[in-house]
Amino acid sequence: MDKPRFIGAEIFRHSSYGRWHPLRVPRVSTVMDLSRALGWLPSDQFITAPRAKPKALTVWHTPDYIDALQRVEASQIATPQDTTRHDLGSVTNPVYPEIFRRPATAAGGSLLAGELLRDGGVIYNPPGGTHHGMPDRANGFCYLNDPVLAMLSLRRNGVRRIVYIDIDAHHCDGVAVAFHGDPDCLMISTHEERLWPRTGPLEDTAGGSAINLPVPRGLNDSEMAYIRDRLVVPQAAAFEPEAIVFLCGADGVEEDPLAHLNLSNNAHWAVLRALMGLAPRLLVLGGGGYNPWSVGRLWTGVWATLNRQEIPQRLPAAAEAVLRGLTFEGNRRGKNPPEHWFTTLRDPPRDGPVRDEIRNRVRFLLRQRRGGGAIR
Ligand SMILES: [Zn+2]
Repeated sequence: MDKPRFIGAEIFRHSSYGRWHPLRVPRVSTVMDLSRALGWLPSDQFITAPRAKPKALTVWHTPDYIDALQRVEASQIATPQDTTRHDLGSVTNPVYPEIFRRPATAAGGSLLAGELLRDGGVIYNPPGGTHHGMPDRANGFCYLNDPVLAMLSLRRNGVRRIVYIDIDAHHCDGVAVAFHGDPDCLMISTHEERLWPRTGPLEDTAGGSAINLPVPRGLNDSEMAYIRDRLVVPQAAAFEPEAIVFLCGADGVEEDPLAHLNLSNNAHWAVLRALMGLAPRLLVLGGGGYNPWSVGRLWTGVWATLNRQEIPQRLPAAAEAVLRGLTFEGNRRGKNPPEHWFTTLRDPPRDGPVRDEIRNRVRFLLRQRRGGGAIR
């Protein structure tokens, strides 16, 4: 079996959505720097993401929207029509210097991943995971939808049955639009209830193609383990997928400034470990995550997990220096970061009781799958 491959790029290092936007913090560059400092990213496992050609993006996005993105990048101005029609230049989806190149690079990595996985293997594309992007507009910090493009690329390369698993704190509304009613796709999403975009309620099967589990605030590691073992893994395995696409957003951890879940990064890594080997192809994407230390540590641990590398108790000096070099301007969490954000990758576990509402919702979903809601 070939070694897992990591798709990254330098464009993410200094790119920011603006001084007050949650995506002002570095994320992908931290993962690359930490992985290299730990000796886990030799050049034969690293691939520089190609920037997707505009034409390649129109397999799902509208040509008008792709034109608008390029024009806005060139002029750095969104017209009122760009904002009304495509939500470009809004507070959520601002104009910034790399407004086309950056998402097109994440998308280029995901399109390439679909090709590279033709004959099987494992690929990690942490720049990817923009699951809110819509065909004709930006949505929730996502200008394109690279998970959708990855899955369409897999299809083009002969892969039919795909299980998409998304444990980001937010619901994958863009992916759900793309694969609604697709009999060869199963989308499993866990997401914080009542959090933006407020889609993906428990009863919503996306035309028989989705399992949606909204979770209450404060979700802990024990609850995620329960969901993993009772719902996610058995349902994914029963679908007999030819490929698994796993969106491992890092905004479900306790220190994230946008969501209100209480996970430690152990929970994310344990879900990933349980998915490894369930299908001949595995693509792991990034996603949300707005605390620069949490994202860097969690996503580096994802790469360690894929390579079955042991995570050291205490980081070597070069890795610690990467974490000490991060800042989090404009957030109280950046004022006095706890020491373990600099010296470790692994959080202390955050176990707790499994609440009845979680048990009842999982039971409801299993019943729904066995009944009429199952895909035929
Ligand atoms: Zn999110």
